[in-house]
Amino acid sequence: MAKFEATANRIFNRVFVCRRCKTKTRVDIKKVLAKAVVCKKCGMKNFRPIKKTK
Ligand SMILES: [Zn+2]
Repeated sequence: MAKFEATANRIFNRVFVCRRCKTKTRVDIKKVLAKAVVCKKCGMKNFRPIKKTK
């Protein structure tokens, strides 16, 4: 299942959630770290990576 996990991580690592309105956005992590991502809904630049819980 290692391959599946790697694939899942690749997908979930690129999905970020707006801290204010919880909108999910799929962007490159480099853009998030560079604060180059703006939430389409509320205009916030604060995103957190989505976490897949068991
Ligand atoms: Zn937002």
